[in-house]
Amino acid sequence: MAEIVLKNVTKKFGSVVAVDNLSLVIKEGSFTTLLGPSGCGKTTTLRMIAGLDHPTSGEIWIGDRCVFSSEKGHYVPPGKRNLGLVFQSYALWPHMTVFENISFGLSVQKRRAEYIQEMTREVAAILRIEDLLDRYPSELSGGQQQRVAIARVLVMKPQVMLLDEPLSNLDAKLRMDMRSELKRLHSETGSTIVYVTHDQLEALTMSTDVAVLHNGILQQLAAPMDLYHRPKNLFIADFVGNPRINLIQGRLVEDQGRVAIEAGGLRASFPRVSDLSLVGQEATLGVRPEDIVLSSDPTPEGFKATVYSVLPAGSEWYVRVKVGNDLVTVTTYDDMGLVNDQPVWIRIQPNRAKCFTNNGELLAYIGQD
Ligand code: ATP
Repeated sequence: MAEIVLKNVTKKFGSVVAVDNLSLVIKEGSFTTLLGPSGCGKTTTLRMIAGLDHPTSGEIWIGDRCVFSSEKGHYVPPGKRNLGLVFQSYALWPHMTVFENISFGLSVQKRRAEYIQEMTREVAAILRIEDLLDRYPSELSGGQQQRVAIARVLVMKPQVMLLDEPLSNLDAKLRMDMRSELKRLHSETGSTIVYVTHDQLEALTMSTDVAVLHNGILQQLAAPMDLYHRPKNLFIADFVGNPRINLIQGRLVEDQGRVAIEAGGLRASFPRVSDLSLVGQEATLGVRPEDIVLSSDPTPEGFKATVYSVLPAGSEWYVRVKVGNDLVTVTTYDDMGLVNDQPVWIRIQPNRAKCFTNNGELLAYIGQD
């Protein structure tokens, strides 16, 4: 196990800055996900940790070893970094059985036959593929092949496992199963995992820590629920969460010596923000759909709205309502029998509204400590 530290790492491809002055600590034993939209620099970051790409500048440490330093001209090749890599494509050997695929690396290391048997079976058991050891890759499902690809890495007991979108070729159900397998694997092995995905749900469900990248720049490193509830800026608020957060343009106003926001037909107060010089500035109110309570009867603190459309989603309903000129999404958990154009009242849950300044930074979150 080992901590990974990136210090001011930049990677340029010609004039493209793929990763921009990235400083990041990936804690020992963590499941850290690099999350962001396509082209934000996730894979390049992973490849630099692996030693497959050289940073243009900066330093990378794995444990107490400096594996790359542009200043000191230091570079440790991938094979000497004690890392396991799993990519989107499984690249199993088609002519080898599952057992042979998993144990290949140990055979190359000329390990004792008993050790190879023992380790291969142990790892196969962790990944629940012990019944498949005699099959060939062509006789496996996508999910099973992916597990073999992971087992093949795990058997080498790497300090760190690097996984680049390993589930993206699987169907939705298998992806869900594999997420829980990977999460168990992490808790059973305690290894440090660095995982790349553009899928925010995958990042939230599996990780202990999530690093959000945008245009090669680190936006926030936080635990999943912190990221969800306290996004540092508008980009993260918008990128993380499904259905998307409601973002409504408004203006900061004064409310009994404190700052509040009026946005469309909504208003929220931020009692902890007392800097009245902010009053008058444009700002954005952010409220997640599940943080709004909808009622078909007038409620004291409710804002009047009308139903625009109702989208049943099985266990919940996404109701689009019109408040002033804005459409706001509300999640409800009961079939309220709503019909289009019906008047309703919506109320923002206490401690849930967020306010972003004009430059996109989080100004306030009502529930903040
Ligand atoms: P995706 O989710 O689509 O894989 P990503 O976040 O992993 O995206 P990277 O693959 O790291 O993004 O790419 C970051 C930027 O660097 C992109 O603009 C990409 O076009 C560019 N880039 C990556 N590799 C190269 C390369 N070998 N040559 C030139 N440009 C590259």
